[in-house]
Amino acid sequence: PGGRGGPYRLVLLGERGVGKTALATAFAGTPPGPPADDEPHEDSYERRLSVDDEEVTLIVYDIGDQGEAGGWLQESCVRTGDAFLLVFSVTDRGSFSRLAPALRRLRADSPRPDPPIILVANKSDLARAREVSLEEGRSMAVMLSCKHIETSAALQHNTQELFEGAVRQIRLRRGHP
Ligand code: GDP
Repeated sequence: PGGRGGPYRLVLLGERGVGKTALATAFAGTPPGPPADDEPHEDSYERRLSVDDEEVTLIVYDIGDQGEAGGWLQESCVRTGDAFLLVFSVTDRGSFSRLAPALRRLRADSPRPDPPIILVANKSDLARAREVSLEEGRSMAVMLSCKHIETSAALQHNTQELFEGAVRQIRLRRGHP
């Protein structure tokens, strides 16, 4: 689905608290809504953006928390995504160490042979609370053969690059120049 102009569908994955909603709202360009209750939520944000001088419609899905026992990935979200943002927090080693099994599961379940997956090391602004170094994140990405980027949703550092990079990855996989 989706020609050159999209829509491209991007799914945010990762454990509770790593910053999925913060990244989605950084993308949407609106301030976070009222504090969420404990219910799992599902939101999508749609925007037109220009990447490499070409307009595209990007839809970002924030499908709530995964990673807790059992319900890691709903099948529907795996089928939805043209690309996946696998988010962890650099201040939470647990969210980092559980990436590999999650990614294997994602690849096994995906109907596409090789969906673009970007490892997102979020909360890079929290230097003193950091538990996972830039180098560790990078080598994990090499090991898992995905892209890697450090972001701060709070400061909106690298967030634009993240979403533009995802669009480029999707275009590349589709053989667009
Ligand atoms: P989610 O459960 O993955 O959707 O995580 P949230 O987006 O709700 O973020 C969890 C908490 O981390 C919230 O208090 C956010 O304000 C905070 N947070 C998210 N991203 C960042 C970031 O880049 N830097 C900092 N300092 N805090 C962040």
